[in-house]
Amino acid sequence: MALSRRQFLGSAAGAAVTLGSGTSFAQGAQADDARDLALINGKIHTMDRDKRVVSQVLIRNGRFFAVGNSVPRTGNVRTVNLMGKTVIPGIIDAHNHIVLVGNRPGWHTPLEHVFTIPDAIAQLKARSAQVPAGEFITTVGPIAAMQFEERRLPNLMELDAVDRPVFIIAAQGGTRTNSQGKKWFESKGIMVGADGTIAGNQSGQALLNLRKELLNAESRKRSALTALQYYASLGITTHRDGGAFQSDEPSPGVANENTYTMHNPFIALHNEGKMPARLRIDFLHQDSPTANPPLPTLSQRLRNSFPFFGDEWLKTGGIGEFTGGGVEGLRAIAKAGWRAEDHALNLAMVTNEIKDRETVNAEISIKNLRWIVSHIPDFPVDLANRADAMGMGVLVGWGPLRTLPANAAAGTSLGPPYRMLMGHPIHKGYHSDGGDITIINPWVNFYTITTGKNLIGQQILGDQTLTRQEVLWLATAANKWFIEEDDIGSIEQGNRADLAVLDRDCFAVPDEDFKRTRSVLTVVGGKVVHNVGVV
Ligand SMILES: [Zn+2]
Repeated sequence: MALSRRQFLGSAAGAAVTLGSGTSFAQGAQADDARDLALINGKIHTMDRDKRVVSQVLIRNGRFFAVGNSVPRTGNVRTVNLMGKTVIPGIIDAHNHIVLVGNRPGWHTPLEHVFTIPDAIAQLKARSAQVPAGEFITTVGPIAAMQFEERRLPNLMELDAVDRPVFIIAAQGGTRTNSQGKKWFESKGIMVGADGTIAGNQSGQALLNLRKELLNAESRKRSALTALQYYASLGITTHRDGGAFQSDEPSPGVANENTYTMHNPFIALHNEGKMPARLRIDFLHQDSPTANPPLPTLSQRLRNSFPFFGDEWLKTGGIGEFTGGGVEGLRAIAKAGWRAEDHALNLAMVTNEIKDRETVNAEISIKNLRWIVSHIPDFPVDLANRADAMGMGVLVGWGPLRTLPANAAAGTSLGPPYRMLMGHPIHKGYHSDGGDITIINPWVNFYTITTGKNLIGQQILGDQTLTRQEVLWLATAANKWFIEEDDIGSIEQGNRADLAVLDRDCFAVPDEDFKRTRSVLTVVGGKVVHNVGVV
């Protein structure tokens, strides 16, 4: 349906609230791209080389035409007075699992911006207005007991306030349902506790049943759109997806999907012109070291796929977040000239990864291939030196749900060593890694990186915290390198017009308000994709 911009904007003001969080629009809903958009009277943090803060931008044909304190506004220009609001470049999450989140069964409902159980219930109740009677409201993956002041997930009695079956499976904190859900699961032979807890392997079986019965092309597309719109409401304009564990058939695993078909809902949205954010796709591989012939999936990928193929909305990338073929796999990737990424969960793992890359690099230079190691909880300066010497980069984040071991000494840092890295020449960028084992909400992640506190208030970073300016830079301009695109990540003349107008000054508000930051207006390639009555 094509609406004029006036109709579109008119409907925005009075439209029903989506996810209780303002209105969100797919890019396809907007028409009249011919008009320029001027934003004036803002505090616009450009994240350019000089970290300039300006008051005005003019957007034309999807790009920043002018950036400064007095942009030309002649011709057919729509001007929006931001009345002092803070603006940042659209956030780039350089490694998460948005494609998994976009394939969740049921009416997936992200809840990463609420911090009490009553608020979560209110969101679920608001969501039920959009969900036909009897159909499941689900939150699968990026939610945690730790995010709630109550330090637990909602229970059956609380979830019964929602007049739909509800199913929550959390990255941390377990699995819950309500009475309507309990009835359905029990009819499938799944055990549900009186308080709505689904424990042990029954949790995976519950998810498996939902996947088998509720997933189809349409419902997946709905989940994909919901996910992209939700994160646009938090200011994310570009996602780089790190893949999933391969399962041909529906699986009980939260992190499992069919990695050969799971991008289809996003491709469908793209074909319809409805992508509200950019998606960059990496390919995860896990070939058995004893496979014969060797590298059965990776070698076919390298022969038959295209890296960096697509357009500004949807594009393929490299191999990751697992290369999955040991040194042989790395050698094949280097030979093919592709990007490669592996994650590291501890010092031993990252030490081996750097050693393996040195082995390959001695034969085939990886200097210009932008190879990446992500997570790196422990990463001494010696490893940073060696990785940097090979032209590699590191992605950091992955923090708010991590907890200190019981016997941790005062000042313990669980890593990564953010402060050390900021002073090191190695390429570094921000990633959440959220979607299955943690949350994507960038502001909650930024909160941990800047305060050192996890979501239950433990200091987990020692002396390795960053400033807000530094973390915002990591999540915008610094991530250009990791997605290999120079024309997003900063608000500069000629760049693609991706930005978020925030509901508060994220550089000035107290810490507890900082983590609650949201976008009131998100623009991607000059198109309004999220708008809470600003334009
Ligand atoms: Zn990951």
